[in-house]
Amino acid sequence: MASNSGQVVTRFAPSPTGFLHIGGARTALFNWLYARHHGGKALLRIEDTDRKRSTPEAIDAILDGLAWLGLDWDEDVVFQSERGARHVEVAEQLLAGGHAYKCYATPEELEEMRAAQRAAKQPLRYDGRWRDRDPADAPTGAPYVVRLKTPQEGETAIEDRVQGRVTVRNAELDDYVLLRADGSPTYMLAVVVDDHDMGVTHVIRGDDHLNNAFRQLPIYRAMGWAEPAYAHIPLIHGSDGAKLSKRHGALGAETYRDEFGILPEALFNYLLRLGWGHGDREEIDRDEAIALFDLDGVGKSPSRFDLKKLQNLNGHYIRAADDARLARLVAGRIDLPTDEALLTQAMPVLKTRARDLDELAEGAAFLFKTRPLAMTEKAQSLLNDDARAILHQVSTRLRAENDWTIEALEATTKSLAEELSLGLGKLAQPMRAALTGTTTSPGIFDVLVLLGREEALARLDAQAAPAAER
Ligand code: GLU
Repeated sequence: MASNSGQVVTRFAPSPTGFLHIGGARTALFNWLYARHHGGKALLRIEDTDRKRSTPEAIDAILDGLAWLGLDWDEDVVFQSERGARHVEVAEQLLAGGHAYKCYATPEELEEMRAAQRAAKQPLRYDGRWRDRDPADAPTGAPYVVRLKTPQEGETAIEDRVQGRVTVRNAELDDYVLLRADGSPTYMLAVVVDDHDMGVTHVIRGDDHLNNAFRQLPIYRAMGWAEPAYAHIPLIHGSDGAKLSKRHGALGAETYRDEFGILPEALFNYLLRLGWGHGDREEIDRDEAIALFDLDGVGKSPSRFDLKKLQNLNGHYIRAADDARLARLVAGRIDLPTDEALLTQAMPVLKTRARDLDELAEGAAFLFKTRPLAMTEKAQSLLNDDARAILHQVSTRLRAENDWTIEALEATTKSLAEELSLGLGKLAQPMRAALTGTTTSPGIFDVLVLLGREEALARLDAQAAPAAER
């Protein structure tokens, strides 16, 4: 599967132990954008070697979340668990080339070693006791692990595309395990073999993996493989600067979709701006993102997750979205039988203020209520005797109106307000309560038109009462 055509190849490599959380989604996005920007390939690898923790539900949630965000992947999805034989093969090549060795240290021995290191206040690290031992010393038939012979002298430097030059003294790298005693490959080996075989040229991932890069490079060097460029992206923090947790919004993409009513293009834009910038531009859509994205714009310091910003962007994308699509999305959020055609027709006025799909649904619900209208407490309290008398006048006047348009209804209502020496609000407030059962809604003349003459007048009449004789 390796390609050597010089094109950019990135990969997103989630471990399916949970949902596609916000940090993972951003890593996926950056990999996808980098590949698309450079006309390369974006690949997806599911790192499901931890069979106990990797569930089919988690894999589905990740695939679903990525698809919802519109991130598509070139080539078939690679499942790491299916590549065990190839990982073992590489470990054996490393052994044969003298870059790895068998270690027969027993668990008890290793525990003793660590206890001594702890007592001497030394870092806990495998001490290389089998590194240079004659294989002839090997106890026959005893279990062993295969360890990588990491360099001991000097230092390893990485020119990270985000972090800059980072170095580690090689003495700090221990001879870690490639194959466990049961012959199974470790994660560290699997990642390198897979990245190489998939032809990955750029490893873009969270900076919690920076240390791993220093441990992974020696495998490339021992195998004589081309090394990838690394870009370790700073983690996302909560709005208070602390590590991102559920409380801050470290939730699955589906939570943003289902519970927060966020559009995928809004989350896409928000994730893009979370750690990457282009001047002070906030609103950048998909095509523009592909045109502009590069690793130079990725910041070095952690970004802060801000739900308000996401909601504001969402409002922007709601206003830009196709009305029929919004109607489809909103219909399922209204607990009443709805009519998508009417919803679509109402959408231009409904969407001017909403920041999420639930607000849209709330604003649209009045269209589908049936008489007698359920009233919110606030709406009910507006409808006192004075208000009912005003509604009576309004209804009488509007009934005589032949032209059921926003302009005509507005002119008629305004002239009535003048005749009564009342502000327009004194009429509009009870009208809103009577027409929608609430105290917030789109413009009152929009509401009249959307409800239609018959239903609007019926709702007004249901609350109207002529002024009592005095
Ligand atoms: N599977 C790892 C994770 O989900 C990522 C490994 C990598 O990107 O190298 O954190």
